[in-house]
Amino acid sequence: EKLLAIHGLHAAVEGKEILKGLNIEINKGEVHVIMGPNGSGKSTLVNLIMGHPKYEITAGSIAFEGEDITALKTFERARKGIFLSFQNPEEIPGITVENLLRTAKNAITGETIKIMAFKKELKQAMETLKIDNTYAARHVNVGFSGGEKKRNEILQMMMLNPQLAMLDETDSGLDIDAVRIVSSGVKHFKNEQNAILIITHNTKILEQLDVDYVHILMNGKILQTGDASLISQINENGFLHLGGDALDSG
Ligand code: ADP
Ligand code: MG
Ligand code: MG
Repeated sequence: EKLLAIHGLHAAVEGKEILKGLNIEINKGEVHVIMGPNGSGKSTLVNLIMGHPKYEITAGSIAFEGEDITALKTFERARKGIFLSFQNPEEIPGITVENLLRTAKNAITGETIKIMAFKKELKQAMETLKIDNTYAARHVNVGFSGGEKKRNEILQMMMLNPQLAMLDETDSGLDIDAVRIVSSGVKHFKNEQNAILIITHNTKILEQLDVDYVHILMNGKILQTGDASLISQINENGFLHLGGDALDSG
């Protein structure tokens, strides 16, 4: 059984068709990368998987562990083990990092995690991400630098331990050391029971990971799927040489 299976997905944002018959299948244990020009629909795709209400499915299906999830709300999908890290994380004044994580973890697992066990797990994850332990008591993202916000996203991923983690340009705007730290957090998280879908333009984040599949998203469809060698081809030649109707802006 596929962890995620998307078939014939058509979707629109504010009446404009963005995805035009997209197929993708992800198994447990796999790392998938999606690359594609700006505006090709990468963020649209992961937001649709997460159930963002702004995006409308006009045809096709999204199944998670064999169950069609298209009617489920975002929090219900999160409870099933789907996680999306945002390109631009929001500030949440009044709520500390630790509180948010504990509340989210309790909500997602449906259990009340023991405080000491939680604190220990949090401390370990923060060490992996080289986040100073004083950040546990700070308000979420308030006054955080860009790099700190992104690391906090990865901290959430590690603590919530989803089955499918989707990272939407989590590495964009990070300096080389921050990318390496984020990358090691992702590597730490990855195991044979979960899967990762990474959207990135920056292949540094992939260096510590075994990438199984690279998909090129153009004009609302997966134009090509290959192994990790596709990444260096794209880096050298860009997207346009792949053909497709690259100039069709829809
Ligand atoms: P990518 O992540 O690949 O850069 P997006 O999924 O963000 O692309 O956007 C795909 C297309 O959808 C773009 O043409 C973009 O302008 C359009 N789009 C995204 N969000 C909205 C919105 N809220 N309203 C109108 N158009 C949108
Ligand atoms: Mg973009
Ligand atoms: Mg995007």
